[in-house]
Amino acid sequence: MAARPASMRTNPGVMRELNRGLLLDIAKREGPLSRADLAKSSQLAKPTVSAIVEGLLEDGLLREIGTGPTSGGGRHPILLEFNPRSQFVVGVHVGARAITAVLADGVGEEIGRTRLDTPAGSPHAVLTAVTEAADALIRRARVARKRVVGLGIGIPGQVETRSGVCYAAPQLGWQDVAVADELRDTLKLPVFVRNVAQCVVLAEHRHGAATDADSAVVFLEDQGIAAALLTDGTLFHGTQGIAGDVGHIRLHGVTTECSCGGRGCLEAIASGAGLARRAAEATGTEYPADDVFAGLADDDDPGITELLAKVGQELGIAASWLLNLYNPDVLVVAGGFLDAGEALLAPLRETALECASGQVGATVRVRTGALGADAPALGAVLVALNEAERTSRA
Ligand SMILES: [Zn+2]
Repeated sequence: MAARPASMRTNPGVMRELNRGLLLDIAKREGPLSRADLAKSSQLAKPTVSAIVEGLLEDGLLREIGTGPTSGGGRHPILLEFNPRSQFVVGVHVGARAITAVLADGVGEEIGRTRLDTPAGSPHAVLTAVTEAADALIRRARVARKRVVGLGIGIPGQVETRSGVCYAAPQLGWQDVAVADELRDTLKLPVFVRNVAQCVVLAEHRHGAATDADSAVVFLEDQGIAAALLTDGTLFHGTQGIAGDVGHIRLHGVTTECSCGGRGCLEAIASGAGLARRAAEATGTEYPADDVFAGLADDDDPGITELLAKVGQELGIAASWLLNLYNPDVLVVAGGFLDAGEALLAPLRETALECASGQVGATVRVRTGALGADAPALGAVLVALNEAERTSRA
């Protein structure tokens, strides 16, 4: 038998915490189930399971819900299940214009929500507003602080997954902001930071357009352009968390300046500001960069119709790269792209399928996001639930 790590030999308290996390995790996934079922699934000894279950019942994390069938004529076993109202998480979306915060229970059911304008000024001002919003939600729901197991937050930019540092979020004017550290200090909670596309793919997979998919890619316009990949329920982060940053892939022959400081990025020509500039060039009329996709959808100028078809094709080529790279079951097109309607979506879809490799294009299902503006905050809830569970097992 292999030697156990020192921490396991010397720290029974840590082992007990790990086993407690393991049993709770099994109850969440497989419940209702008996103590014997828990012992079987966890491969822990029955007395160990019984002792930990007593503690979990006392703390209200598990509850007894009657008896189950006997296996061979003995006593009917008492069935246990995870009590969803024993743990809570907060999910936050920081948008360029608004902050949305959602309080949810241990299975992700929404309990409360608040929305406020994103404060102008420093990152500190925005994170202070996030802290106040989360605090207010927890207080209003009369949830005990110790029951809140984590906060997930979606930021429109590049985020380092492990440290929770936002490297760059041009729409917020952020650079190298220690989001997780600051929120952890003020909220005294575990904080998990992801980019908005990662939150959206989690939400669309759990509640929206990709519930039947083993693997899904979200292709999103959120004033910038981003993508995220989920496979077997798990986000693909890359080394730092920046995987899927398709908006800043450079295009040959394009020299337009981008918000990232580079030139020729997809985002510079096909998201808000870039599209507004091209619309102005096509028609001689000024278009505001905010909501430009929705604004152009209502415009019957032939120059705009032609522009949307061209941008749809350009985006379709980018989407085909995602299809070939990831070979997903489902591609979810989401965010601002949907506001432009079929004038943009039809050429996007057609070009993506036409340019993807034969089998990749033949099998993928291209869909539009089902959750709209709710998706990032709902996804941030799932980030908090997943990560709080994972760290309790780590
Ligand atoms: Zn760029």
